[in-house]
Amino acid sequence: MMPNENRLPRELIRLSNHPPEEVIALFVLNKLADQSDVVHVEQHLLVCQQCQAIFKQEDDFVSSMIAELERTEEARKRLRTLFL
Ligand SMILES: [Zn+2]
Repeated sequence: MMPNENRLPRELIRLSNHPPEEVIALFVLNKLADQSDVVHVEQHLLVCQQCQAIFKQEDDFVSSMIAELERTEEARKRLRTLFL
């Protein structure tokens, strides 16, 4: 228990807390609505290797999803030219 936790400066609390994985995922997608969350994740990633690993994982996932979508779109275009 940390009885004085509420007295810590807000920024310090933010830096010491790991953002949830969903927040990191939203950060990767550039979909975080709250700018202070963006700043928090950015600053946290600078100091936390654990979260950097999650970030990398999410980033790879998003990149492969985008590549997959592009491939699908490309395949659709080719099908269209074949059948139209
Ligand atoms: Zn962390």
